[in-house]
Amino acid sequence: MTKIIFLFLIFTLPSFSADLKKETMVAALTFDDGPNPEFLKNALPYLEKENVKATFFVIGFKAKKYPDFIDKMFKSGHEIANHSMNHVCLVRPSPKWSGCPDLSEEKAIKEVNDASLAIQKITGKKPSFLRPPHFAMTPSRKNAIEESLGIKVLIHGSNSVGSLDWSFNDKNKIFNQVKKTITERNFKPVVIVFHERNVTLEALPEIIKFMREAGYKFVTLEEFVKIAPKANI
Ligand SMILES: [Zn+2]
Repeated sequence: MTKIIFLFLIFTLPSFSADLKKETMVAALTFDDGPNPEFLKNALPYLEKENVKATFFVIGFKAKKYPDFIDKMFKSGHEIANHSMNHVCLVRPSPKWSGCPDLSEEKAIKEVNDASLAIQKITGKKPSFLRPPHFAMTPSRKNAIEESLGIKVLIHGSNSVGSLDWSFNDKNKIFNQVKKTITERNFKPVVIVFHERNVTLEALPEIIKFMREAGYKFVTLEEFVKIAPKANI
C-alpha cells in the first residue's frame, strides 16, 4: 500500500507543480485611457513583434472617434475593455473624494453601457471587463453595474499592479516600479495597469524582458481569469 501511495505521489507531484507554476506566472498587460493614435501607431507593431496580446481599457467617446484603431487592435488579437463613456467617476466613494461628482446609479450604468455599445458596434463583441475611472468604486455600485450589464468590474485588488506610469516621465522609474511590486508580491499572477503614453512604450522592452526571464506568459484578461480564477483583480 505504501508503495502504491509513493508511486502515486511520484506521478502526480510534477504535473501538480507545473500547473501551479502556470497559474502563478501569468500576466495581463493593460492600457487605459485610449485609443491614443500617437501611442498606438508605435505600440501595436511593437506588441506584434513581441507576440504579446494586451488588453485596452478604452474610453467610449474616444473609441467612437478612432474606430479604425479599435478594429485593428481587436483583429490583432488584443482585448478591448470598458473604461466608461466619458472617463467620469462612476460613484463618489466617500465625501473626501470631492473631485468626483456624485453620479446616480442610473447614470453610472448608462456611462458604462454607452461605452460597451460603442465598442460592440465596432468589434461585434461586448466587453467583459470594466475598469472604473480613477478606481472610484463601492461594493454596492459594483454589484449594481455587474448585475445590470453582465460586465466584471475590476477593483485594483492584490493581484493588480499599478505601474504609476501616469506620474513618471522616465522609463526607468516605470520599469523599477513594476519590477519592485512584482518582486515584493512574490511573482503571483498579475494584471499590470499602464496608460497609453509614449514613455510607457519606452519602458515596455525592459519590463517584458524582465518578466519573460522570470517565467511570465502574457495573456489577455479573458484568458487571465480562466488560468487564475482566484486572483484578486
Ligand atoms: Zn483612466
